[in-house]
Amino acid sequence: MTSDQTHIIVGASLAGAKAAETLREEGFDGRVVLIGAEEERPYERPPLSKEYLRGEAGREKVYVHDEGFYAEHEIELRLGRTAVGLDTSNGELELDDGERLDYDRLLLTTGAEPRRLPIPGAELDGVLYLRSVGDSDTLRERLDRGGAVVVVGAGWIGAEVAASARQRGLEVTVLDPLSVPLERVLGAELGAIYRDIHTDHGTEMLMGTGVESFEGDKAVERVRTSDGRELECDFVVVGIGVEPRTGLAVQAGIAADNGILVDEQLKASVPGVFAAGDVANAQHPFYGERIRIEHWANALNQGPAAARSMLDALTAYDRLPYFFSDQYEVGMEYTGFARASDRVVFRGDPATREFVAFWLVGDRVVAGMNVNVWDVIDPIKRLISERVTVDDRRLADPDVSLEDLAQVEGGTVA
Ligand SMILES: Cc1cc2nc3c(=O)[nH]c(=O)nc-3n(C[C@H](O)[C@H](O)[C@H](O)COP(=O)(O)OP(=O)(O)OC[C@H]3O[C@@H](n4cnc5c(N)ncnc54)[C@H](O)[C@@H]3O)c2cc1C
Repeated sequence: MTSDQTHIIVGASLAGAKAAETLREEGFDGRVVLIGAEEERPYERPPLSKEYLRGEAGREKVYVHDEGFYAEHEIELRLGRTAVGLDTSNGELELDDGERLDYDRLLLTTGAEPRRLPIPGAELDGVLYLRSVGDSDTLRERLDRGGAVVVVGAGWIGAEVAASARQRGLEVTVLDPLSVPLERVLGAELGAIYRDIHTDHGTEMLMGTGVESFEGDKAVERVRTSDGRELECDFVVVGIGVEPRTGLAVQAGIAADNGILVDEQLKASVPGVFAAGDVANAQHPFYGERIRIEHWANALNQGPAAARSMLDALTAYDRLPYFFSDQYEVGMEYTGFARASDRVVFRGDPATREFVAFWLVGDRVVAGMNVNVWDVIDPIKRLISERVTVDDRRLADPDVSLEDLAQVEGGTVA
């Protein structure tokens, strides 16, 4: 070891594990400590609402690295340990067992946790949330028993859990106060397509409906809705979004607002501290504002970018947001960020569930979603990142290739 520095990563999930890997790949040969509150070595969460939840994939499929990886790369993996205190002026981190660790650089990849529903009956048995592999195991046991489930929240987690439960043959009811599923990200038109996909598979979609209380004797037996209905059920899954885990940063005086505030190079407000993944509200050079992204690809890529910043290889993290979702036989990928848009242009007939949707502002594409259409991410990225001027008719015409539309001199893909 030629470096006597210690770099610590708090949060042993995707962003943290990829950051540790990158520190070694980039040649850092000092001490690397990766601290994780969970007992499990770093794993990926997307399968937990999909194939792992349905029992189609085993646990070995979810891990980020092989078991021996951390020891082989001299990464000190401390599992089942929570960082509880942080003194940034002395570069010192305190763990829940009282151990104190000095650091030269610190990366916070503490992620996010499910928002709780504070209503009567919230503490009843059978009111479940999904974030960890343990949560997915608990839910999978419920799916094995069959019966009826009420899913509260028609965002990505709720929609995927509903689809998996239906695929396992349960009776599924989904509630959401918004008018269609996934409305916040996709808008009313695309959300309606997802509502129909669920309805076609026999899921009851109670949109525009909130939840008043969970009722039952010890365990939940029914859900009382805002419009006075009583829905009998065997269990409930709540998926109403996540909150970034900023507690450790905030108590150490690090600036946070909807996540830990970091600049384009993922540096936090205090020297030597960085953040990445779900917890980071990062300044994005392309958008010229801060955005916090709660998706797999962001954790995958931002972790390594933060590691490079820790090593002073300072480059801006400028990847366009990207995520995917699978529900029943419908797979999709979404690229970009449509905080606002004028209209949606479709390439292909949405009724066939094989199409690309583009969100536009003026004559520019700000986001694209390909549904059961593959290998189109690069031209979609290029359309967005190069701010290519497009014509709605050509964009909608499947005979005009997206590559041709996205052709720009010297263009690079973010
Ligand atoms: C069920 C499910 C399905 C998903 N499906 C998709 C999908 O289809 N597509 C997609 O793009 N994204 C999906 N996501 C989102 C994706 O998994 C997240 O964006 C990703 O996990 C974020 O990774 P992260 O490393 O930033 O944080 P997290 O995965 O949240 O991990 C943070 C880790 O830090 C640990 N930690 C926190 N505080 C401390 C502390 N003080 N001390 C020690 N450890 C600490 C936590 O225990 C946790 O293990 C899904 C998420 C879930 C839950």
